[in-house]
Amino acid sequence: MNWIIYFLIILIGMVLGSFFNVCIYRIPRKESIVFPASHCPVCKHKITMFDNIPIFSYLFLKGKCRYCGAKISPIYPIIEIITPLFFLGLFFVSGQNFSPDFWKYFVFISFGIIIFSIDVVHKIIPDVLSLPLLIIGFLFSLIPGSKMGIVSAFTGAAFGFFVFFILAYLFHRFMKKEALGGGDIKLIAAIGSFVGFYGVLFTIFFASFFALIFILVFYKERTKEIPFAPFLISAAVFYVLFGHLIFDLYLRLFLFRSLAL
Ligand SMILES: [Zn+2]
Repeated sequence: MNWIIYFLIILIGMVLGSFFNVCIYRIPRKESIVFPASHCPVCKHKITMFDNIPIFSYLFLKGKCRYCGAKISPIYPIIEIITPLFFLGLFFVSGQNFSPDFWKYFVFISFGIIIFSIDVVHKIIPDVLSLPLLIIGFLFSLIPGSKMGIVSAFTGAAFGFFVFFILAYLFHRFMKKEALGGGDIKLIAAIGSFVGFYGVLFTIFFASFFALIFILVFYKERTKEIPFAPFLISAAVFYVLFGHLIFDLYLRLFLFRSLAL
C-alpha cells in the first residue's frame, strides 16, 4: 500500500525536520545537539514532549512559549513542513523506490536544509557539516548500484573546489573583496562529491544566476554581505530533483533542431 509509505515518509520528515531545527540552533553556538533536552531560549524552561510535536505544537501554542510567552520563530514549523515535502519529492523522482541513490540524496538534502538555514541566520558554513558531507559523498559513490562512481564524485569535488578557489583568489587579488569564503569553497567540493562534474557545473551556473537575480531585485546597496550557500544548495537540490528533466529537455530540443536543419 503506497499511502502507508507516503505517510511514513511525511512522518519521518517531520520528526527529522524537528531535529534539524535543533542542529540549526545549536551547531553555530557550538552546543551539543543531543544534550541538554530542548528548552526555551528565553526563559530556559524545559520543553515537554507534548509541546515538542512537529508543526502541531507550534499551532497549538500559537507560536509562543507556554511559560514566558516569548515568540517562537516561524522558521521552526517551516523547516518541519518543507523537510517532509522534499523527502516525498525525492521519493517520487527516485521512481518510488528506496535505491542507494534515494538514500544518498536523502542525506544530501538533510545536510542542505541545515547548512542553508545556518548560513542565512549566522552567515557561516560550519566545517563540522561541510567536511563530513564531502566524505559521505565519496562513500556513497563506492556503494554498488549507485549511479555515480568514485571517479565522477572525485572530479565533481575537485572541479568545484578549484573553480571556487581560483575565483576567490581573483576576487581577493583584483577587487579587494572576500566574495567567496573558505566555507563556500568546502561546500562546493562537498556538493561536487554528490552530484559529480555535470552537477557541479549546473550548480555553479544556476546558483550564480539565482544570486544575481536576488541581488538585482532585493539588494539596492551593494555593501551588505550576502550568504552564498543558500543559492548553492538550492541549485544543487534543484539539480538532484529536476536536473535530469532539464538535461533531457535540452538534449531533445537540441536533437530536434539538428534534425530540422
Ligand atoms: Zn520561554
